Amino acid sequence: MEIEQEYFGKKIIGLTGGIGSGKTTVAKFIEELGFPVYYSDERAKDIVNDDDLLKERIIQLLGENAYDENGIYNRKYVAELVFNNNDLLQELNGMIHPAVKYDFEKWIQHQQGKLLFKETALLFELRLNQHCYKSILITADDNLRLKRVMQRDGKTYREVEKIMDKQMPEKEKVRKADFVIFNNDGMQELMLQTETIIQKLLSEIE
Ligand code: ATP
Repeated sequence: MEIEQEYFGKKIIGLTGGIGSGKTTVAKFIEELGFPVYYSDERAKDIVNDDDLLKERIIQLLGENAYDENGIYNRKYVAELVFNNNDLLQELNGMIHPAVKYDFEKWIQHQQGKLLFKETALLFELRLNQHCYKSILITADDNLRLKRVMQRDGKTYREVEKIMDKQMPEKEKVRKADFVIFNNDGMQELMLQTETIIQKLLSEIE
């Protein structure tokens, strides 16, 4: 796969990881260090409410119940509808992902600095790494990720496991990533690994 050095004149660093790996934690830390971060998954959640054309298309695909009486995306209903219907899920994603891509491209144009970070769970699955200068994978043992998500979201073991089972295996992601952060220890260790990678990236582009 051809990797672009720059995207809209910027070097994009993709930040990814499976559920509960700690990618948002790392992204927030990177933001604190002063680098702009685009949160794809969070933005996708807003876009389904803010983009009127997208909203219309989702209603056409999934019906009026995809939005509640206040016009807000009914995430739970949609998740249940598409969870065991892969074709429908693909169609829905085929609408949402291009809208997020467009939003990201608009965001890039408002950013200063050459190094921008993009947090996304689907970096490799959607081949978004082809627009990235480098990719960083955050990973942790499955049992730790399970425990952390159960604690964070109040989900059951089985619920988290079901989501995990649908994601690209960690081993495959490790092979594809330029840098890997192992998040099996405490926060301090996580920050230290992140800083080391950032230093390396900075020295590369200078
Ligand atoms: P998701 O894909 O579900 O959005 P994520 O990869 O963004 O997850 P985070 O939300 O960053 O993961 O982390 C999952 C949970 O684990 C959070 O509650 C976070 O505070 C916690 N966590 C992350 N890293 C550590 C760590 N090293 N030690 C303890 N808790 C951690």
